[in-house]
Amino acid sequence: MTEHSPGVQQYIERGKALEAERAARRTAMRHKKFDTIAVHGVYDMQTATASEGSIIEPVYLSSAEHYDNSDHLEAALSSLMPSWIYTRIANPTIHYLEETLALLEGYRFDGEASAFVTASGNAAVFLATVPFLSHNGQPMNIVAQARCYGGTFQILSQRHGVERGVEVRWVRDPSNLDEWASQIDANTRFLYGEMPSNPSLTVLPIAQVAAVAHAHGLPLIVDATIATPALMRPLEHGADVVVHSLTKSIASGGHSMAGAVIARHGLPSRIGPDALRENFAHYTKRVLARDYGPSLSPLNALMVLNDLRTLRHRMDFLSRNSMTVARYLEQHPKIEAVLYPGLESFEGYTLAQQQMWLVDGAEDGSAVNRYGHLMSFMPKGGVPAARKLFDAFQMIWRATDLGRIKSIATIPAISTHQQQGETGRDLAGIPAHLIRFNIGGEHPDDIIADLEQALDAI
Ligand SMILES: *Cc1c(COP(=O)(O)O)cnc(C)c1O
Repeated sequence: MTEHSPGVQQYIERGKALEAERAARRTAMRHKKFDTIAVHGVYDMQTATASEGSIIEPVYLSSAEHYDNSDHLEAALSSLMPSWIYTRIANPTIHYLEETLALLEGYRFDGEASAFVTASGNAAVFLATVPFLSHNGQPMNIVAQARCYGGTFQILSQRHGVERGVEVRWVRDPSNLDEWASQIDANTRFLYGEMPSNPSLTVLPIAQVAAVAHAHGLPLIVDATIATPALMRPLEHGADVVVHSLTKSIASGGHSMAGAVIARHGLPSRIGPDALRENFAHYTKRVLARDYGPSLSPLNALMVLNDLRTLRHRMDFLSRNSMTVARYLEQHPKIEAVLYPGLESFEGYTLAQQQMWLVDGAEDGSAVNRYGHLMSFMPKGGVPAARKLFDAFQMIWRATDLGRIKSIATIPAISTHQQQGETGRDLAGIPAHLIRFNIGGEHPDDIIADLEQALDAI
């Protein structure tokens, strides 16, 4: 044990007391319901008393923290006590968001989980994967679902693949366990999936794929942006690391970009250090995020917290709206196919039904499936019909965005998934005439009326 001066030791003791208070706050909230956690997080009355009594989490826009004296500075900067230090490293407002997300993703999960937030979902995808790719003199490969977000496809195939020399082994059908298992070898570093995927809504059997990963001592990383913790929590199903673009349904208001990485403590990994396995989120935040610097603005952290408070209710009613719209589109004679996990006709329906449930059930407490508010569909008549339909929307926004409280459509082949090229899109299962459709909070009658008049145009 290193000897510390009595002055530094005093701050180490203060740090232990602070850690104990934080742990007690977390434990107290873990026993509350999902909505209560979403509304309060860990910002309690004692914390408020120390913050001028503010009942809403204050936004600490300060770039740095002041220290009482050199002993305090030494203890803080040597990580001997919890400290904010500098907003690139940590910040109280960001901490409130991180703790809330860890509690929500870890809801009813018997292990421990920690979270860290980033300035965008892409930064979260990068930071959830790059710690597993440090060199050990051997070649490396990763096994990933090809049906994933375009930005993720680029990070894996270009940034990790081309630029770092990591071999990317794509899984075409993520429900095929043999396809996952047969691509793993001694040099594999992780398995990566998206559930459900953007934009094809492909469904991943998380528990089964996690079992394949764990049999090889590997972590499974799952991007659950489209489901949100209100409908599905991958840790509960056996995943090790969860990625979110908070920009989407979690911050549905559309004011801020943000991302998150939430990980279980004690995850399997063939590459160290031990700190990575013990608490991946903490290690990555304290070491990699500190150095790369993708920190979120504290102001955006508060905006996300604000939207997060009503997440469960929003995902419930937006899912119900989406079901109505999906059923309308499915029966329309000008529609070739509708991809929505809640439709019985959808390939991944059974697997989605097993995994996507409204947290804490319906009003009367009964268990209900909810499938989120993203769908894709293809009109008959190929690209010309898709473009004509798209151009005819009067209320549904044309934008490369999703998760919004407003209905929005895009054509992935010429937008979000344009950069990966035709071969990449073929691999990812994105036909050129696929329209990705985010169902908003407008009355479904009005959404259907806009679709109807647009379909009349073709
Ligand atoms: C949008 C998105 C991302 C990237 O998030 P940004 O906040 O836009 O950087 C990652 N994964 C999925 C599934 C997404 O939809």
